[in-house]
Amino acid sequence: MRLSSLLGDTLREAPAGAEPAGQRLLLRAGFIRPLGAGLFAYLPLAHRALTRVEGVLREELTAIGGQEMRLSAALPAEMIKTTDGEATRFADRKARDLALGASWEAAIAEIVRKEIRSHRQLPQLLFHIQPQFRDELRPHAGLLDAREFTALEAFGVCADEAGARAQADALRGALQRAFRRCALPVSIVEAGLGSAIAHRFVYLMPEGEDEIVTCDGCGYAADRRMATFRKPPGEAEPLRPMEKVATPDAKTIEALARFLDIPKRRTAKAVFLVTAHQAAEGQQARFVFVVIRGDLEVSAVKLAATLGAAELRPATDDEIRAIGAAPGYASPIGLAERIRRAPWPAVVVVDDSVPASPNLVAGANEVGYHLLNTNYGRDYAADIVADIAAPNAGDACLRCGAPLQIARGVAIGHLRRLGAQGAEASSTYLVSDGASRPAMMLSAGVNISRLMACIAEQHHDNGGLIWPPSVAPYSVHLVALAGRDGDALAQAEALYQALQRAGVETLFDDRAESPGVKFADADLIGLPLRVTVAPKSLAAGGAEFKRRDADAREIVPLGEAVRRAQDMLNRMAAEVQAGTWRAQTNAE
Ligand SMILES: [Zn+2]
Repeated sequence: MRLSSLLGDTLREAPAGAEPAGQRLLLRAGFIRPLGAGLFAYLPLAHRALTRVEGVLREELTAIGGQEMRLSAALPAEMIKTTDGEATRFADRKARDLALGASWEAAIAEIVRKEIRSHRQLPQLLFHIQPQFRDELRPHAGLLDAREFTALEAFGVCADEAGARAQADALRGALQRAFRRCALPVSIVEAGLGSAIAHRFVYLMPEGEDEIVTCDGCGYAADRRMATFRKPPGEAEPLRPMEKVATPDAKTIEALARFLDIPKRRTAKAVFLVTAHQAAEGQQARFVFVVIRGDLEVSAVKLAATLGAAELRPATDDEIRAIGAAPGYASPIGLAERIRRAPWPAVVVVDDSVPASPNLVAGANEVGYHLLNTNYGRDYAADIVADIAAPNAGDACLRCGAPLQIARGVAIGHLRRLGAQGAEASSTYLVSDGASRPAMMLSAGVNISRLMACIAEQHHDNGGLIWPPSVAPYSVHLVALAGRDGDALAQAEALYQALQRAGVETLFDDRAESPGVKFADADLIGLPLRVTVAPKSLAAGGAEFKRRDADAREIVPLGEAVRRAQDMLNRMAAEVQAGTWRAQTNAE
């Protein structure tokens, strides 16, 4: 490809508001252009990189027996899950309800149900790669959170538990190999409760939306909302009598702890939530009164799972007052009885830290007052006692006791066993004796556009992008610097033709620009190998070779240039495989 005819100019300045760094460089280097909120055009360079990332995933999934398929972008509305509020629904001209696929899980399950009849057809691994559109209510401007993106979805269908475990291992391995080939460090994070197969593949970066708990001691990594941890124990002391004290302006746990000069773990915090109304599921909205120790936070995911609720939202102050509680001073004492008389169903959930911690300070359900020495069991009871807390940094790892850390990241993909309400329940197959058994299904997904954006975040410097050779839009950036007699330009042209013939993907900067502009653009676009043909290099004996990820330059005779370029690209590819490519730089 000649740079003189490539669509997408490089920009000297980053457009305002474009963050983080990798995305700014993708804009400046002419890879992407915004089209609307959360919508992007992938210009030819980005399209090539994206296509190569897709190719890596396709190869790895095919290698473990995956069969690629293609499904329609629009689906009958009944193939969209009722909980999937992000799907875009519309009607065709005959008023049939359709939806843009935001997940093809139900469609695949339908195909599996019809096509798979016998145990001899199992296991199956099906996958497809196509754009997904999610109608986010608050679209972010960034490429990392784009509303439309290219997605890989893979579905495994297995006969039994052992088969599901084996296929989960195979899928996990294939995705890990793909991420490694893309030179992207990705953490496997537990994203399920209990022993469910549920992982998320997360790229750690400070701008990420997901909170990840990690342990340096044993390598444990989990979504913070589902993480297990060892809760700091309560004091071992006898129960003391309850006592009401004035606590003016102590509406928060912080203010209360400061006012009474006690640690937050000696307080009990009241939290009010409402389970979202789910008419379709026949579920009624419920009022949820949560008591948790003051040093801990409620995990909405753990709480929702405990209640079997699809969604939870914080209760409004008016809703809290409506059941006779005082916002900021709500108390578990006596309230359980009161909310049972409330106009809608209510449930009291206590985190298991509370029964283990005697003499906690709790609200008195009266503005300006708290109760000292409240004790679960003696003074109040709950409908449910369970672990509903999320860990904080420094809490101890449940496995090894080391202090946990909290990092931020973006999820690139997931792997999970589909639950009982999912597709698995609808698919059955026949075993040899004629009995019918439910098939087990796994689902894996990768946001390929986000994966490409994360590669740009991971691999860049002040000068621009640094593409791994495995997914670079082109391998060689050939720069021609014209001499007075035009000889260098002719030599560069000849080398361009030779590289093309040898199958080395080359971007040829044949423009009449200054050396400074050409080198700055080469750094900005970030192809793995820069080859310069200039009067100076010819005088020194050939073309100048420079890896984008290193400072060293060398002169290679023109006759050896093609073979040398192939060798250097092969070496870089081997470094990516071995995990040593840019390992030094990344460790900084
Ligand atoms: Zn640990």
